[in-house]
Amino acid sequence: MAMPVIYCDFDGTITESDNIIAIMEKFAPPGWEEIKNQILSRQFSICKGVGKLFSLLPSDRKDEITKFAIENAKIRAGFKEFVAFAHEEGIPLYIVSGGIDFFIYPILADYGPFTGVYCNKSDFSEEGIQILWPHTCDPLCKNDCGCCKPSIIRHLNHKNSFRIVIGDSVTDLEAAKHADFVLARDLLQEKCLEWGINHREFHTFFDCIEEIKKRIEVGEISC
Ligand code: MG
Ligand code: ZN
Repeated sequence: MAMPVIYCDFDGTITESDNIIAIMEKFAPPGWEEIKNQILSRQFSICKGVGKLFSLLPSDRKDEITKFAIENAKIRAGFKEFVAFAHEEGIPLYIVSGGIDFFIYPILADYGPFTGVYCNKSDFSEEGIQILWPHTCDPLCKNDCGCCKPSIIRHLNHKNSFRIVIGDSVTDLEAAKHADFVLARDLLQEKCLEWGINHREFHTFFDCIEEIKKRIEVGEISC
């Protein structure tokens, strides 16, 4: 029987809203929204667009920006219980995020440990913040994702696993297409309907616990 493995998004999934947008609204100079719109209209890839956005922010405001991101982030209800549930059941839990290390690690510090955390990295040695991309697309993905979720899932290569993807946005869609089961909210849920992807909608992580428990109880997955 297949063993579950969970791949969970960060921004808008573990946190209630998008941390990059919150940081830009607070610290970016006028004009950043034009870049955001160019990302949304796919004129820029996520990789190129997010790199451009952060380069607008001065590196010497690192501490201030980090402090704001941590204080501003609101964790979705049930997340702590969800992590404990995965530990108890022995289910690998990976955080797979297009967000940036300097805010993800401190926000997650009280909730781990996780099986793995995959995200983009930052460099504050230049005048503007530089984003580094340690998890770019493998040859099978042509989307210039930045942090490529399907490539990470392929790289981790859990054999005979039941892949559970949890997410909220179009940036989770490519990963969702590789999943056996998706827990989706917001735009990702609409995309799952559109693509006929096996999914349930969730609002809190208590919903996620219930949905996974159900699948263990009926014997669809075993831990
Ligand atoms: Mg997200
Ligand atoms: Zn990719």
